[in-house]
Amino acid sequence: MNNQFIPYGRQSISEADIQAVVDVLRSDWLTQGPAVEHFEKLVAQYCGAKYAVAVNSATSALHIASLAAGLGTGDTLWTAPNTFVASANCGLYCGADVDFVDIDPRTYNISIVGLEEKLVLARQSNKLPKVVIPVHFSGQSCDMSSLYKLSQDYGFSVIEDASHAIGGKYLGTPIGGCRFSDMTVFSFHPVKIITTGEGGMVITNRQDLYERLIRLRSHGITREPSLMVGESHGPWYYQQVELGFNYRITDLQAALGASQMSRLNEFVARRHELALRYNRLLGDLPLTLPWQDSDGYSAFHLYVIRVDIPRRKKVFEALRAANIGVNIHYIPVHTQPYYQQKGFTEGMFPEAERYYAEAISLPIFSAMTESQQDRVVSLLREALS
Ligand SMILES: *Cc1c(COP(=O)(O)O)cnc(C)c1O
Repeated sequence: MNNQFIPYGRQSISEADIQAVVDVLRSDWLTQGPAVEHFEKLVAQYCGAKYAVAVNSATSALHIASLAAGLGTGDTLWTAPNTFVASANCGLYCGADVDFVDIDPRTYNISIVGLEEKLVLARQSNKLPKVVIPVHFSGQSCDMSSLYKLSQDYGFSVIEDASHAIGGKYLGTPIGGCRFSDMTVFSFHPVKIITTGEGGMVITNRQDLYERLIRLRSHGITREPSLMVGESHGPWYYQQVELGFNYRITDLQAALGASQMSRLNEFVARRHELALRYNRLLGDLPLTLPWQDSDGYSAFHLYVIRVDIPRRKKVFEALRAANIGVNIHYIPVHTQPYYQQKGFTEGMFPEAERYYAEAISLPIFSAMTESQQDRVVSLLREALS
């Protein structure tokens, strides 16, 4: 039997992608050239948003988005515990406190009921969050229209962590359009929907945020005379007007990203085919399959099943032993030792913890074949019997 390793996710690189990178290598600009702006324009257009700022990772994107939202010492950022640590760490980078809101047990996204309850209490104790980061887990949008309403009532900024979700839709329009948020962040890590190797992007419709993001990406430096303090000294002149970073993406990466954008819809359509096929093939097994909200169209970055707690570890180990690269998304962030040192304890966010104890991410990626999927299904069937 074919025993080749099947990862939970991986990139799909075409000859055209390779050629796009080679073309940059032969050009005048390896970084800070025209490929970055071209890539930004493509993604902004795709999302129906005004501005896009490409950076070297989604982690950097979350950091500068949080700063642009005005997050700093004495402020608080809230996110869901069922996410990668980067969605919370960005708050700590800014000197702010971080807190969590438990997840909805059906979507595994931030619970809007839980958010509202926590906001009511936070208002009473004068500790409202400055920024809330909803994470579109597995590629399925959070309930953004409800979240937007709460952001208006309670006065916080919203940064969507859409690291899983480029190519997905919410209420008929692309995720990233920022209809219900200030900014949206994408990741282009190779396991995500499209890739630039490492890379990320912030999308926004607000010019003030855009200008700030551009500066923060590159040392807090501006070459724009209208943004300077006093007069420009001449054409060579630049000013550092705040503390920024070198979070720039290269033209090599941006060219790969632009080329990948031309296949984004195809990638997501293929993920849907695979997800529907899993639904069909696993329907009779004692599992919870991913629930899909009719308000959205998932990008299906992940296909997560839930297995009862006593069997979960055994099933996971059996699949790994058979060379299936199953994974677990996510260990709740508040249970990480670093966050426990900050006072978080197990039991604080029970839905995220119970979900974590039962979840397994099955392989899903655009280049996955049906025979690979059949092998996953039959090994899973065997492990459950
Ligand atoms: C992958 C991921 C990130 C971080 O992305 P990088 O591009 O690797 O920095 C942040 N948030 C979520 C939800 C992710 O899945």
